[in-house]
Amino acid sequence: MNIIKDKITLEEMKIIAIDIKDIRFPTSLRSDGSDAMHTDPDYSCAYVTIRTNDNIEGYGLTFTLGRGTEIIVVACKALSKLVLGCNVQDIFDDFGSFWRKLTSETQLRWLGPEKGVIHLATSAIVNALWDLWARIEKKPLWKLLVDLSPEQLISTIDFRYTSDALSKDEAIEMLRSELAMRDSRESCLLRDGLPAYTTQVGWLGYGDEEVRALCAKFLDLKFEAFKTKVGLSTEADEHRCQLIREVIGYERMLMLDANQVWDVDEAIDRMRTLAKFRPIWIEEPTSPDDVLGHARIARELRPLGIGIASGEMCPNRVVFKQMLQAEALDYCQIDSARIGGVNEILAVYLMAKKFNVPICPHAGGIGLCEMVQHLQMWDFISLHGSKEKRFIEYVDQQHQHFENPVIIKDACYMPPSMPGYSTKLTDSCLRNYAYPNGKEWQRMFKEGTYPAPSD
Ligand SMILES: [Mg+2]
Repeated sequence: MNIIKDKITLEEMKIIAIDIKDIRFPTSLRSDGSDAMHTDPDYSCAYVTIRTNDNIEGYGLTFTLGRGTEIIVVACKALSKLVLGCNVQDIFDDFGSFWRKLTSETQLRWLGPEKGVIHLATSAIVNALWDLWARIEKKPLWKLLVDLSPEQLISTIDFRYTSDALSKDEAIEMLRSELAMRDSRESCLLRDGLPAYTTQVGWLGYGDEEVRALCAKFLDLKFEAFKTKVGLSTEADEHRCQLIREVIGYERMLMLDANQVWDVDEAIDRMRTLAKFRPIWIEEPTSPDDVLGHARIARELRPLGIGIASGEMCPNRVVFKQMLQAEALDYCQIDSARIGGVNEILAVYLMAKKFNVPICPHAGGIGLCEMVQHLQMWDFISLHGSKEKRFIEYVDQQHQHFENPVIIKDACYMPPSMPGYSTKLTDSCLRNYAYPNGKEWQRMFKEGTYPAPSD
């Protein structure tokens, strides 16, 4: 690599400080993000800034629902000791090994391994490192990924535990075989973007009139696919589906999301009832860890034309591997702020390609739309070149907090052009929403709009 920057070389660049913040937003006040399992989420994040001895910084985050963000902040601090003082070129030259160092720290590993709070923290730090790399290269992350040679890209991935499903050599060959198509696909991406679907119409806490108005709004914006939350009573679920179908008609796509509230048999029964609304998928019908349960639900529902979507809470690449091996997924939903950041997500993309399952990234939580678009754009150019059965989730909230928010045109994500992973929050956002001392939080506590934290 050995890139000469303005003054110092990448070889001389070191990580000299890592700052971690608890940033929260009071989205529960409007029921934004509400579903059957998470009825009052405050869409929030643990936010990591990595500083170098040059003027370049990297920004990363992991998404949370409010309470508990402070626990991830502590976990990030524990992991940051492994990153501080490191030479930047050493990390990026052998990123796969560095990722393993983070996830296999001899004592911290006990807290997971590779799952839960410690892995969410890994994701925030790893995402900040990728943002840093892309900023150094002066490219948006999708373009950095596209421009890496197959060997370089594969060197960022830890194949331990998944090489039985996909070997390193197979993965390199998979990427090599698509090289000739990259330029034309990139032109297509720059011209048309990638299709989005919206969940904005479907939060469970919204009333009928709001749902109706939002469906009309997104129809006007040319959206062709709509998702709603389900998982309340049978009557309430039927009412919601009926309402949305009345506005969007049956020629557009409808997705349903149960957010893990059902048992396996219950999921099958409930979806048989809802099949008349012709949903293309049921998302997270049961526990995200239940590989065989998902497989059984899939076998029962596929004959009805309903696919299974899951992955936003899949803890790591190993469970994704089993989901794919067990034919438990029809749509694979990676989450950019869960599992161990970009490196591990790339492993899932490659396995999904081998098992011929399309990826439809989970987004909507703060920063997720901003991040997943990069991954899906890399996938389009470097792996698939197809838009069939591939949609990126979109909600129209919290984008104003980012320096480079997503751009949606004709219901498609347009490729970001600014360097980085689109993860940098604005300075005013940090001032207002740092929890609990940010200006907005202090105002809300004072006015009684939101209860102050108790000790
Ligand atoms: Mg979901």
